[in-house]
Amino acid sequence: MRNLPAMKHPPHYSVPARSRGLKPAYKGRMEGRLIPACLAGALFLALALPTAYGWGREGHVIVARIAEDHLTSQAKAGIAALLGAQSSIAGDAVANWADDIRPHRRESKTWHYVNIPFGADHYDAKRDCPPAGCVVDRIGHFARVLADKKAGQETRVEALKFLVHFVGDVHQPLHCIERDNDRGGNECTVIFFHEVRNLHWIWDDELIRRRMHLYPDPIAFADRLDKRITATQTAEFTKGDAASWAGESHRAAREVAYAGVPTTRIKPPLAEDYVRHCGPVAENLLMKAGLRLARMLNTAFEGEHSR
Ligand SMILES: [Zn+2]
Repeated sequence: MRNLPAMKHPPHYSVPARSRGLKPAYKGRMEGRLIPACLAGALFLALALPTAYGWGREGHVIVARIAEDHLTSQAKAGIAALLGAQSSIAGDAVANWADDIRPHRRESKTWHYVNIPFGADHYDAKRDCPPAGCVVDRIGHFARVLADKKAGQETRVEALKFLVHFVGDVHQPLHCIERDNDRGGNECTVIFFHEVRNLHWIWDDELIRRRMHLYPDPIAFADRLDKRITATQTAEFTKGDAASWAGESHRAAREVAYAGVPTTRIKPPLAEDYVRHCGPVAENLLMKAGLRLARMLNTAFEGEHSR
């Protein structure tokens, strides 16, 4: 379902404990609290954990910032004409806009993810994408709207913001899978560094934050990731389309995110080893998302006169 109201967060990055998966009221009660061995409380809390919606705010800013570094001058001019010269797609108000408007734009609720069954080996539009839309078909749709020079300014601005956000979302592995009706890990409760968490939240926020510890500013962190991208990776990463990217994310979810996380009620606790194993995979997906977003934006603005 993933249909609970989205939460708003201030657009700054100095509070590393901020979460998309927990309301501040819950966080105040839970941060730093050690969980007793008895999991009865954990199960109770699991019912109370609100749904998360995609990479956390940092993740979307990181993806957009990497993309920005790979834009053609034509795409840069096109974006400036739509958003204004001072605006950047890596701004929180742009990269996370789709999450912020979600409570008011009910039609967009299913657009942030696609539930590919755990046992499937690829994305199947008929099976996986509901009539209301999913992240795969919305990426294609908004890329077409953005490229349509006859579409109104406001329509194209929205298409740009949706596209920036959804290309990020489709690279979050747990946005492309469902195991035992767990809504992409939202209902997969685990003990993570002694605290009750859900797997989706760990991938939205916590993995990235733990990788960012030396670079708490997402822009600086994105620039660091961007510097690591080789020419071979640029060529390789930019291949495919939204459907194949969803397939890649689904594989990463199966083989990495859910690895060591059994469906049994009592699960082994996750900590340093999980972060060490999954963190580089998450970083790799952020890099891919950034390069792929850049390619989509460069294509959308092809042939558009600089203004
Ligand atoms: Zn989202």
